[in-house]
Amino acid sequence: MKGLVMRSTGSWYDVLGENDVTYTCRTRGKLRLKGFKTTNPIAVGDYVEIAIDNEAPGQGIIEEIKPRENYIIRKSVKLQSQGHIIASNIDQAILIATLVYPRTSLGFIDRFLVTAESFRIPQVLVFNKIDLLEEEHFNALEQIINMYEKIGISCLKISATENTGLDEFKNLLHNKKSLLSGHSGVGKSTILNLIAPHIEQKTSSVSDFAQKGVHTTTFAEMFKLDDNSFIIDTPGIKELGIIDISPEELSDYFPEMRAIRSECKFHNCKHTHEPKCAVKEAVEAGQISESRYISYLSILEGDDNRR
Ligand code: GDP
Ligand code: ZN
Repeated sequence: MKGLVMRSTGSWYDVLGENDVTYTCRTRGKLRLKGFKTTNPIAVGDYVEIAIDNEAPGQGIIEEIKPRENYIIRKSVKLQSQGHIIASNIDQAILIATLVYPRTSLGFIDRFLVTAESFRIPQVLVFNKIDLLEEEHFNALEQIINMYEKIGISCLKISATENTGLDEFKNLLHNKKSLLSGHSGVGKSTILNLIAPHIEQKTSSVSDFAQKGVHTTTFAEMFKLDDNSFIIDTPGIKELGIIDISPEELSDYFPEMRAIRSECKFHNCKHTHEPKCAVKEAVEAGQISESRYISYLSILEGDDNRR
């Protein structure tokens, strides 16, 4: 039977069968997709083929993994050719951000976008707590949204407490597997409680675990919203904050830079000091926003979330 991996402990997996029953599964022998070596052969989001164990109700064996559309991998610090897959087959990465209480910095947003882009996952920015914005902040938010929409990132303004924009938010999730991220305090739990009260219990237990320091933090968990909509609630934003991108390829993950980088004089231009750099010229001409360029430089220098 075809199934979808909802949860993993590393040795067993919760697999949602196409009959809507969840089976606790183990793997048979060596199951590995070709290519990258991973410490976990099966990840949350994987489509698998399972054999149901007739002797043990509710149990099964994973016999096959379907090829992945994409995946988020955390590379091993020691062995760069190895890694741990956090989640796979993700349709979109959604960052819940707030301009105030707490402030999500533009540098942090750009890091999130770049990381998701490097994993080939489309991104959406959801700005929560717009009820708290005074006119001045509201205008600033409009400008920020304008900047991101210009480079093709969808943005949404919502207020979880005032019930503004939540229908649009639900529509956004429809028929998709969405990864949900955000700094603590931005309202992620409040939003999840409103749109899917049935999963509230589980999300809080995941963070309880994380707070107690149990090593479950590297295992993401997926929740079913409705028939074909799923949410992957990453226990920590760190999963997406760790970027392993070489300086030469970084501008490939800034869409507005990728579009023009072939016009730079040097094919391996890093867009810092080089002459005849199309990216720098575009920044000076106001076609690429200064804020994005500053984020680019900051990531290039390896600054850690400081912006
Ligand atoms: P999480 O850490 O991201 O899960 O954040 P919570 O959902 O726990 O929310 C943090 C605080 O922000 C709580 O006190 C919420 O009531 C509040 N909050 C969440 N959404 C909104 C909103 O849209 N407007 C306002 N004013 N407060 C919000
Ligand atoms: Zn350049």
